Amino acid sequence: METKLKVKLISHTMNPELVIATAGKLCYSPSNIDDLMEKQTPESIERFVNMITSIGHGSVLEHTSFTFAIEGVSRSLTHQLVRHRIASYSQQSQRYVKETQFEYVIPQDIKNNPILEQSYKNHMEDGQRLYDDIVDKLIYDYVYNKEQYGKLVDIQLKKCNIDKDEFEAWKNVNESCEKFVESLRTSYKKLCSTLEKKAIENARYIFPNACETKIICTMNLRSLINFCHHRCCRRAQEEINKLAWTMVEEVEKESPLLGKTLGASCQFGPCPEGSMCCMMPYEKKNK
Ligand SMILES: Cc1cc2nc3c(=O)[nH]c(=O)nc-3n(C[C@H](O)[C@H](O)[C@H](O)COP(=O)(O)OP(=O)(O)OC[C@H]3O[C@@H](n4cnc5c(N)ncnc54)[C@H](O)[C@@H]3O)c2cc1C
Repeated sequence: METKLKVKLISHTMNPELVIATAGKLCYSPSNIDDLMEKQTPESIERFVNMITSIGHGSVLEHTSFTFAIEGVSRSLTHQLVRHRIASYSQQSQRYVKETQFEYVIPQDIKNNPILEQSYKNHMEDGQRLYDDIVDKLIYDYVYNKEQYGKLVDIQLKKCNIDKDEFEAWKNVNESCEKFVESLRTSYKKLCSTLEKKAIENARYIFPNACETKIICTMNLRSLINFCHHRCCRRAQEEINKLAWTMVEEVEKESPLLGKTLGASCQFGPCPEGSMCCMMPYEKKNK
């Protein structure tokens, strides 16, 4: 099933504008920090934030950070996202989480062609079937291929407090792979879940880049500005471009002032893309 982008700013530094303005002012003031904070007014905060961002005093912006919960994006997108190294990430693991019916992203150009879209969806469904099949067949192999996996199963039987002889007798009732895994799931739930973990970490290799994933990302404002310069740019791929603009909107809701610092490079200066320039610059943002 097709997934949908969902982005939520779930946390940020308390009083981010005040923190930036105070940290910025401290650099040039003999006052103590309490006094500096007390003397700040909405006007002085705005003046300082604008001044700091326009002169590129970036380290001051690092005192504030923003945490985004991001869902309904592709693995292709997160591969691009995590290239932004000055950030923290936690991503749902395909090693530990079984995909019972994986969702996926469909690029707009593919959606614009109904025949391509249908083939794309078929491919995703085939992928899910193959994944399920690999998981079941590997679990079956782990139990029955003694030469390869005998030791692994022995350890797991011990860990799950299962009597080996009893298990051997149980498993020797001949069943199809599918039926066997089903019975293992009900009769030896813990063992099955351990073997399944090993199976899914192998089966996941068949997943396409389109596969939906969830990620929590924290960036300080300096890094977020850099991220937006690159990814709000029309040169960025459609999906991450949409994500970047949604992140800007989320920050704008909390702080219109800091939101003004975010956008594509061309909104703050000349386009850095050279011959790759899209020739459709966004409106400049006033600092
Ligand atoms: C349109 C587009 C196309 C791209 N195409 C490709 C591609 O084809 N192949 C590819 O591999 N990548 C590609 N990228 C990714 C790109 O090269 C960057 O890796 C990504 O945008 C992260 O940017 P960053 O390094 O500025 O961010 P961060 O990693 O967050 O770094 C932020 C800033 O910190 C500084 N910094 C971080 N690490 C170091 C370091 N080790 N040494 C010195 N300074 C550092 C730099 O000033 C950097 O700008 C593309 C990006 C875009 C936007």
